[in-house]
Amino acid sequence: MSEVSRATFDEVMVPNYSPMTMIPVKGEGSRIWDSEGKEYIDFAGGIAVNALGHCHPVMVDALKQQADKLWHMSNVFTNEPALELAQKLVSNTFAEKVFFANSGGEANEAAFKLVRKYAKDNFSPEKNEIIAFYQGFHGRTLFTVSVGGQEKYTQGFEPLPGGIKHVEYNNLEALAEVISDKTCAVVMEPIQGEGGIIVPDNEFVQGVRDLCDKHSALLVFDEVQTGLGRTGKLYAYMHTSVTPDIMTTAKALGGGFPIGAMLTTDKIAKSMNVGTHGSTYGGNPLGCAVASAVFDVINTPEVLEGVMAKRDMIEQRINAINEKHNVFTEVRGRGLLVGCALKEEYKGRARDFMNATLEEGALILMAGPNVLRMAPSLVVTDEELTAGLDALEKGIAKVVG
Ligand SMILES: *Cc1c(COP(=O)(O)O)cnc(C)c1O
Repeated sequence: MSEVSRATFDEVMVPNYSPMTMIPVKGEGSRIWDSEGKEYIDFAGGIAVNALGHCHPVMVDALKQQADKLWHMSNVFTNEPALELAQKLVSNTFAEKVFFANSGGEANEAAFKLVRKYAKDNFSPEKNEIIAFYQGFHGRTLFTVSVGGQEKYTQGFEPLPGGIKHVEYNNLEALAEVISDKTCAVVMEPIQGEGGIIVPDNEFVQGVRDLCDKHSALLVFDEVQTGLGRTGKLYAYMHTSVTPDIMTTAKALGGGFPIGAMLTTDKIAKSMNVGTHGSTYGGNPLGCAVASAVFDVINTPEVLEGVMAKRDMIEQRINAINEKHNVFTEVRGRGLLVGCALKEEYKGRARDFMNATLEEGALILMAGPNVLRMAPSLVVTDEELTAGLDALEKGIAKVVG
């Protein structure tokens, strides 16, 4: 028997989280088990992180092999796993240069510092304004919450960094009114994740690109949640007609090992010259070895096409559930980033649905109080999908009563 329990959390942990009562202790594929031995299907995937499910043999093998070789050296040296991973990222995206960090927030922090520095190097110090979108989410450091568009994450932490403006997402006129030659960058998620799984129109995304070009502002795509096959393409920008200037990636990149990366072009990367930015662990051999293995598994037609097929299956089943229980206005998102928007009468009750589904044996997420979110493993089996959706249906039935 373990000496710790959920009650220990309240004794020894800072109360910024309010974890579920059950404590997961083991995972395999899309199944996890709690400390009492109860089994669950995992459609939460550690918040869109466990893209290959739990303990995928390829990841376990990469970690074990690297663990016997070299763990950490600092950026006083480079290392082979980091170079190999950077090569893969560069040859499969628009990017020509990579900076490694340890999380999505840190990758974004690097991006936001870089856009300022680049504008200063190439234009003028007055060109320092960042425009981002309401409901956007970019991490929890002071700079990234400030660029993020959700006040609940900045309240109490003022004074905030300046030079940041927000406009409505998927509203090109709103951006056109605010953008100017003082804008150094526009920052957006190609699909808003935490903000409610909002997929913008391609005309909006193309319009943002055009406005950035007109004002010599950089376009930053935060693909921390949408990247690495989540939407059925390697990166979500590949569904659009647009290429960003800077892109950040994390979450699924490490499949559960903490790693993040900022990708950009040669020209922009030049502004992050020696000594301007850094990280002790960024590009650490263990993380890069695991991410490299994850990348190779995901970046195959079988896995990426599989994402589309699994989405169809999920959507069909959710539509059938909805015909019975009448709880959702729409199913949205792309690939295996699935958002189910609650009808007016259930607004604010996403947590009740999540808890009820957990009781029935499946983990799901919310994206705000009005949207149920699922981000299952990209290699979830049909059997696991069916079991999880059965639990979801039972959970929904329970709440609807
Ligand atoms: C999760 C997330 C982040 C923050 O990543 P961390 O690894 O928690 O720092 C940033 N941007 C987006 C779009 C995210 O979904």
